[in-house]
Amino acid sequence: MNDTVTFAKADQKTEHFDVLIVGAGISGVGGAYHLTQQCPGKTFVVLEVQDHFGGTWWTHKYPGIRSDSDLHTFGYRFKPWTSAPIATAQEILTYMGEVIEENDLGRHIRYHHKITNASWSSADNLWTITATRTDTGETARFTANFLYMCQGYYRHEKGYTPQWDGMADYKGTIVHPQTWPEDLDYTGKNVLVIGSGATAATLVPAIAGKCAHVTMLQRSPTYFRTGRNAIALAEELRTLGIQEEWIHEIVRRKILYEQDVFTRRTFVEPEVVKQELLGAVRAELGPDFDIDTHFTPSYRPWRQRIAFIPDADLFKGIASGKASVVTDEIERFVEKGVQLKSGKVLEADIVVTATGFDLNVLGDIEFAIDGEPLRFSDTVTYRGMMFTGVPNMVWVFGYFRASWTLRADLVGDFVCRLLKHMDEHGYHRMTPALRPEDKDMPLLPWIDPENFNPGYIMRGMHLLPKRGNKPEWQHNQDYWAEKDEFPAIDLDDGAFVYG
Ligand SMILES: Cc1cc2nc3c(=O)[nH]c(=O)nc-3n(C[C@H](O)[C@H](O)[C@H](O)COP(=O)(O)OP(=O)(O)OC[C@H]3O[C@@H](n4cnc5c(N)ncnc54)[C@H](O)[C@@H]3O)c2cc1C
Repeated sequence: MNDTVTFAKADQKTEHFDVLIVGAGISGVGGAYHLTQQCPGKTFVVLEVQDHFGGTWWTHKYPGIRSDSDLHTFGYRFKPWTSAPIATAQEILTYMGEVIEENDLGRHIRYHHKITNASWSSADNLWTITATRTDTGETARFTANFLYMCQGYYRHEKGYTPQWDGMADYKGTIVHPQTWPEDLDYTGKNVLVIGSGATAATLVPAIAGKCAHVTMLQRSPTYFRTGRNAIALAEELRTLGIQEEWIHEIVRRKILYEQDVFTRRTFVEPEVVKQELLGAVRAELGPDFDIDTHFTPSYRPWRQRIAFIPDADLFKGIASGKASVVTDEIERFVEKGVQLKSGKVLEADIVVTATGFDLNVLGDIEFAIDGEPLRFSDTVTYRGMMFTGVPNMVWVFGYFRASWTLRADLVGDFVCRLLKHMDEHGYHRMTPALRPEDKDMPLLPWIDPENFNPGYIMRGMHLLPKRGNKPEWQHNQDYWAEKDEFPAIDLDDGAFVYG
C-alpha cells in the first residue's frame, strides 16, 4: 500500500503503512534499514517520541557516556565500524546518522510522536495506533498491518531512584545520570556516586579530574574487565590496507568467538574466570588494595553484565586518589550527605544515583486485542520476540551478554522473512500460539534469575511475558545458538497460526 493513502475518520486523518516501527534507537533504525533492503515494496514509518534518533545514546548525556560493548558487534553487521571499539555516545550517534543518511531513512522517521495506544482488530487485520504529538499536542492516528516494536526495555523519561529515609533533609543536589542537568557544575565539589554498574564505572573517571573527590558507593561489588581500547588485529589489518568491510567482518568473528569461549568458561570453570578477573583488577590497584571487600562479587561471573573498563580508567582514578570506593549500605540521607549502616557519614555536595532503569514493557503503550485490554504478563513469549495471542507484532529485545544489535539484526531478518512468507501465501495475520504439545509445558518467569539477575529485571519481572521450558518459548540470551536457529525457523510451524 502507498503511504500517501489517507482516509478520513470523523475528525482526523488516519495514515496507513504496511509496517509501523516504534522507536528510532539502534533497533528501530536497523529495522528501517532491513525493511528497505529486504522488503523494498513495503511502506513503513518510524515513530519516535524524542526529537532525535539514537534512543539510549540520545537520552543519556552524563559525562563520559560510552558503550561497554565493542562497536564491531554493537554496530550493525552491514556498516563497518572504523574507530576504537569502545565508543562515546556521540560517536554512536554519528554512526547511526550515517546509516540514516546513506540509506535515505530520514524520510521515514517522524519525531515528537509518543505512541499511547495500539489496538488490533481481527475483523480488519489491522493495528490502529494513536500517538500524541509532543510538539503540537495534536493526536495522530495510524493503521498498520504489522507492528515492529523497537522501543527498548526501559522508561526514557527518568531513571530509577530508590527512596531512602531523609532524602528531603539533604541540602546538596541529587541527580540521576539519565536526566543529567546540562549546567551541573561539579568543579571542586565532593561527589558521591551511588552504584557500581557500567554507568557509575564510566562516570567516576570522567568527572574525577574536575571534582575535589569522587566516591563510588556500592552495596555489593561488580565484576569488571579491562584492557586497551583497541583491537590489535583491526589495527594490523588496517596497516595492511585491507578494506573496512573485511576488517569489520573478521574482527566481529574474532570478538564473537572469544566471547563465546569466555561465556562458556563462566559456566564450566567459574572460579578460574573469577580469579582471572580479580587478578586484572589487582594488577591495576596494587597488592595492598582491599580487593576482597570492594571488587569481589558473591555471584559467579556473567550473572550480571560485566562492564568493560577501557584503558583501566576507573582503576587509574582510584589509584591516583582522586576517586575511591566504599562498600556499605545507606542507612539514610542526612543534611550533608549519607549515613551508612556502618555508622560512617559520607559528606557530598552532589549525590549521583547511578541506580539503574525503570523497566517498561513495550513502551508504556496501552494494547488491546479486539477491544480487550492486553496484559503482556498473561502471554508466553516466542523466542523473546513474539507473544501468544498477539498478532502481527515482533519486539526486539537484544542480548545482555553480547551486543544488543546482534539480535536486532537477526530479528530484522526474521521480520522480513515472515512478511514475505505472508505475502506469498496471501496471509493477513500470524498469531503465535502454544501447540498441542506445549499445552502442559511449565510456564516460568521471563528469565531464570540463576542465569541473569540485574535489579531492573528482578523489579519488573512480574510485568514481562512468561517463558516455557523449550528453546522456542524463551529468550535464551544465546547469540551463538540463535544465529543458526533464527534463519532456520520453520514459518509453517504449528506455533504460527495464520489467517
Ligand atoms: C547507558 C547505557 C549503556 C548501554 N550500553 C550498552 C552496550 O554497550 N552494549 C549493549 O549491547 N547494550 C547497551 N545498553 C543497552 C541498550 O539500551 C541497548 O543496547 C540499545 O541501545 C537499545 O536499543 P533500542 O533501539 O532497542 O532501544 P532504545 O535505545 O531504548 O531506544 C528506544 C527508542 O524508542 C522510543 N520510544 C519508547 N517508547 C516509545 C513510545 N511509546 N512512543 C514513541 N517512541 C518510543 C524511545 O524514545 C527511544 O528513542 C546500554 C544501555 C544504557 C542505558
